[in-house]
Amino acid sequence: MTATSPVQNLATLIRCPSVTPAEGGALTALAAMLEPLGFTVERMVMSEPGTPDVENLYARIGTDGPHLMFAGHTDVVPVGDEAAWTHGPFSAEIAGGEMYGRGAVDMKGGIACFVAAVARHIEKHGPPNGSISFLITGDEEGPSINGTSKLLEWAAARGERWDACLVGEPTNPDQLGDMIKIGRRGSVSGAVTVHGVQGHAAYPHLADNPVRSVIALADALMDPPFDAGTADFQPSNLEVTTIDVGNRAVNVIPARATASFNIRFNDTWTAETVMAEIVRRLEVAAADDRLRPGRAPVRYEIKWAERPSHVFLTRDDRLIASLSSAIEAAIGRVPQLSTTGGTSDARFIKDYCPVVEFGLVGQTMHMVDERVSVADLETLTMIYETFLARWFGNAGT
Ligand SMILES: [Zn+2]
Repeated sequence: MTATSPVQNLATLIRCPSVTPAEGGALTALAAMLEPLGFTVERMVMSEPGTPDVENLYARIGTDGPHLMFAGHTDVVPVGDEAAWTHGPFSAEIAGGEMYGRGAVDMKGGIACFVAAVARHIEKHGPPNGSISFLITGDEEGPSINGTSKLLEWAAARGERWDACLVGEPTNPDQLGDMIKIGRRGSVSGAVTVHGVQGHAAYPHLADNPVRSVIALADALMDPPFDAGTADFQPSNLEVTTIDVGNRAVNVIPARATASFNIRFNDTWTAETVMAEIVRRLEVAAADDRLRPGRAPVRYEIKWAERPSHVFLTRDDRLIASLSSAIEAAIGRVPQLSTTGGTSDARFIKDYCPVVEFGLVGQTMHMVDERVSVADLETLTMIYETFLARWFGNAGT
């Protein structure tokens, strides 16, 4: 098997039911594609108390630099209502020019195309002018604890160094070639709890109602805007996601009220400065004596969710230009360089090397009837192949 066909590669991968955290045969299938191409494939299981063990894969061809990493995941989200699928979610059936299956675009399709591109590159040019590695996790759609971040630590600890990374997540909103992601906003979540005194609704002077205060604090978090955005990023934005009082009695003033929030912030901030700004806003709002005339200031505490995601922006001309020009050569349009959307595993990789993301069209990801256009699989493979040749500086490309 030569793995030069993205359609065959993808069919093989889709038929492996690798719903997180199950390996489902997907990494074994991927290893079987890479080993005949000359890759050294290693498999490792990552563990952490309280989370399921997860299988991961690292494969490399070449020993010299420059070293290009392709990163992605073979795990998929659950199928949902299986009966609602037009074709089985692990069947890889093709109908109307589209291949159906869970992971078709997110992101077994991206892996299938990159494998095919590497196979074609090696067929045409021989081994790469440097090294190519695959860093593939089975824990992207899950807690993401036993996946990319541990895999990177593991590889770096034994001396692996990379010059650039391409993540094959579906980045295109409408059509193949729309968008390369060159960065992501950071993300911080937390909850602020206001403490009051429980009591009878008819005797409020004996109680201390936390609800009005939590509303005022929540309002102070959302207004005014944190910034107006930058040339590379959308404005930072905080959303209060829930306010919880848990009180079901109409004649009781509750003892506490909690507002949870999430902020997506641009590179005007760091996780640390944005957290400090949130604390400052809460302090100002809590000290406003119009809120509680004649009473002590609001008593509240803030609890941060674990692990903020840090904002990043990739500025690597060779990486971005090789990819962007490969897209333009294939489809005749220049892709948009974007930092929109949610977080991805690129947030871990950016600590090791410059990283960009480009893959298939994301429209059906996580949905019933996830599917990919067979033509897109061929085009993406062509784009990846041209990108490889340009990034490695092969002549005649
Ligand atoms: Zn994904």
